[in-house]
Amino acid sequence: MPILVMKFGGTSVANLERIENAAKKVQKEVDRGYDVIVIVSAMSGETNRLVGYVEGTSKLYDAREYDAVVASGENITAGLMALRLQEMGVPARSWQGWQVPINTTSQHGSARFMSIPREHIDAKFAEGFKVAVVAGFQGISAEGRITTLGRGGSDTTAVAFAAAFAAERCDIYTDVDGVYTTDPRVSDKARKLDKIAFEEMLELASLGAKVLQTRSVELAMRYKVRLRVLSSFEETDKNSGTLVCDEEEIMESKVVSGIAFSRDEAKITLFTIEDRPGVASAIFGPLADAGVNVDMIVQNISEKNYDDDHPGAVTDMTFSCPINQVERAKKAMEDAKAAGLIGYDELIVDTDVAKVSVVGIGMRSHAGVAAKMFDTLARDNVNIKVISTSEIKISVLIDRKYMELAVQALHEAFDLDRA
Ligand code: ADP
Ligand code: ASP
Ligand code: MG
Repeated sequence: MPILVMKFGGTSVANLERIENAAKKVQKEVDRGYDVIVIVSAMSGETNRLVGYVEGTSKLYDAREYDAVVASGENITAGLMALRLQEMGVPARSWQGWQVPINTTSQHGSARFMSIPREHIDAKFAEGFKVAVVAGFQGISAEGRITTLGRGGSDTTAVAFAAAFAAERCDIYTDVDGVYTTDPRVSDKARKLDKIAFEEMLELASLGAKVLQTRSVELAMRYKVRLRVLSSFEETDKNSGTLVCDEEEIMESKVVSGIAFSRDEAKITLFTIEDRPGVASAIFGPLADAGVNVDMIVQNISEKNYDDDHPGAVTDMTFSCPINQVERAKKAMEDAKAAGLIGYDELIVDTDVAKVSVVGIGMRSHAGVAAKMFDTLARDNVNIKVISTSEIKISVLIDRKYMELAVQALHEAFDLDRA
């Protein structure tokens, strides 16, 4: 039998009625002749609630216990989905991560897959079971502890199963009917894309579009999984939703295909550091050791202490990182200063920033995207604080209060409103 993977996100399994609705979609695929692997998220809001319990109990919590607690949301929906399918006459059973077993690394809270052996699930399919319902987001480490894959990780569970079982397709059912040119919650002009290239989806996801977890797109690209995003609330067929595919499969595309944004950014500036070889490494080495994910970086001649005879004798360094890593970053810098590795006058944190990015593989062959982006923002009087670019994206850091405005203006400027 051909195998299909179907993943249902939190809103799609938010209550018993929605689980039944999802189960009906599964039954349809079984009737079409598929053996189905269903990956479920926790009911929407449940993982946040569990994280709250952990944080309310222990500030510097043991990450192994964090995982033991937060993984449990998916156990409930997996069991309920299997029960609902049984009620409908579909032979199904649930699997928690450790039962498969889904073997992962031991990085609690952000574990990665090591292997997913097929034999137990294959044996059940051979016995006549039609559906294996697997709890998303979780696995087991070599030490035998429960692990989780990072927020949004059920997408990655789905793609990993599609790869391990050579599934015909991996369908991600969610609360939107596909991948849009930008988050439809921020722009009502956002347009659904029929297809999007893996590389573009990878950039959009890593720049903040949470419709797919970044790692899931990486895996799909590596293992050539046919990945589709579609609505669990609408009637769907094999042409519904958005297909994430190789760029060769996309006939025509615009220079910019999407806009992503992230509110979870912070900007840190070190004022008046020495301008000498090795200073960047003295800053970013300790940040890396502290596990801070530095994103954008700018270094410029300091406005303070600028001396015509010694241009560049001192400089300012600005970088951005996720907002929840600010304390760690500050501590790493203070420790480095105390140890005499770096010297700076002042460290200033700005948490009222957001990152807005335009993404498109067309940028490889078209000049002028940056100029157009900056011009559009200038017209709306949006000041750009930091810029970073790569082959297929340009990101800017701006005041958070202008984020929506910037997204909407860029959406129009790059003609994304129209097909
Ligand atoms: P699930 O619980 O099903 O995993 P998520 O909330 O993780 O769902 O992801 C779906 C959400 O992603 C949508 O409701 C939408 O607001 C958001 N989103 C952000 N960017 C995009 C985009 N470019 N296209 C579609 N949805 C997007
Ligand atoms: N339940 C987990 C979360 O909320 C995983 C997921 O839904 O993908 O992050
Ligand atoms: Mg999600």
